[in-house]
Amino acid sequence: MDDGVSTTVVEPVQLTASDRCDACGARAYVRVELESGSLLFCGHHANQHLEKLAPTAKHVHDERHRLTEESAS
Ligand SMILES: [Zn+2]
Repeated sequence: MDDGVSTTVVEPVQLTASDRCDACGARAYVRVELESGSLLFCGHHANQHLEKLAPTAKHVHDERHRLTEESAS
């Protein structure tokens, strides 16, 4: 019998250059998924807001490591 329960596939959803920080419009490197929707933050605002948002977030997608790899501009 097929129990129909599959493991949740976590898509590697990368942030792109078109994803913009909700606070300042800079390129987003962090996405915070909340019950009400998701928020995007640049590295700067992620540092500011993540601490208080993280406990209520369903998922936090953090690509801030790329900030150091792509240190141009
Ligand atoms: Zn920002």
